[in-house]
Amino acid sequence: MPELHDVVIVGSGPAGLTAAIYTARASLNPLVLEGEPSSTGDQPGGQLMLTTDVENFPGFPDGIMGPELMVNFRDQAVRFGAKMETVKASRVDVSERPFKVWVGDPDAAEPTYLAKTLIISTGAKALMLELPNETRLIGHGVSTCATCDGFFFRDQDIAVIGGGDSALEEATFLTKFASSVTIVHRRDELRASKIMQDRAMANEKIVFKWNSEVAEIVGEEKVEGLVLTDTKTGERSELAVTGMFVAIGHRPNTDLFVDQLDMKDNGYLITKSPSAATSVAGVFACGDVQDDTFRQAITAAGSGCAAAIDAERWLEANEH
Ligand code: NAP
Repeated sequence: MPELHDVVIVGSGPAGLTAAIYTARASLNPLVLEGEPSSTGDQPGGQLMLTTDVENFPGFPDGIMGPELMVNFRDQAVRFGAKMETVKASRVDVSERPFKVWVGDPDAAEPTYLAKTLIISTGAKALMLELPNETRLIGHGVSTCATCDGFFFRDQDIAVIGGGDSALEEATFLTKFASSVTIVHRRDELRASKIMQDRAMANEKIVFKWNSEVAEIVGEEKVEGLVLTDTKTGERSELAVTGMFVAIGHRPNTDLFVDQLDMKDNGYLITKSPSAATSVAGVFACGDVQDDTFRQAITAAGSGCAAAIDAERWLEANEH
């Protein structure tokens, strides 16, 4: 029979590792399934592993590199006794207690781990254009977060890809720093709300490039320009920019919980704010997997703390 854990944490970004620090310090010996690197951009440590400088995480007045920050989170959790497993959950069953988690063959009769409480911090993925240079140049001109990286593009010409509210919001925000922001959209009509459209169109620094897709990102070490294709004529053109913000949406990593936990229409887990409780008692969620609004490392960490305290209280109330 697999060992029964008080707390199993699935995911190891700022939310999961903060939950690990708190539950470890509460002597709950958390087990963290930190994930495995994959060709699709998954990695233990979450999205900050794909960034360079992080300047808005409090406590680091000179900034810190994203991967270094996540190593610090991990070391801090391990120091208090969190057990890390570099594996990815392949199946989760929360229909009865103890909760069951599988690693490897999801059809195996016996689960790999049993858990009295489960903290889900599997995060979300920024959708990408899937271009050859794109992942390599993240942190070197390619970004998925204007709030995080806009500051690095002071007085530069940059592009934002997408035509939804995120793209327009990011473009408007980026005009605080950039000399110009070109919104590259694949159609000639925006998906964004009218108010966001009006705001963007009234902004002198924003230029629209309609019916255009990015065919190529130019640059070896950093972004030096984009090659665009006209979606109507197929004509190619060059756009001289030093930054490309991809704002074509996010996808929460919730496949494991479909038909088991309540989700919004967009797939994000529903938590009973201000608690981290999900629709199943004893299962808590934190970080980007349940946050389609803020998506910041610090808000993820804060919600990880809340999930840990919720789990601790739940165990106490249920005769831990
Ligand atoms: P979204 O509404 O799904 O828009 C995604 C945009 O990216 C669309 O314009 C889409 O083009 C484009 N796109 C998708 N895949 C693409 C690809 N492979 N190549 C090029 N372009 C691609 O996503 P979002 O803007 O992130 O917004 C998500 C939700 O959050 C929405 O409900 C939005 O209203 C909400 N939101 C609200 C606010 C706010 O109110 N302040 C801010 C941000 C987001 P097409 O239009 O051609 O499909």
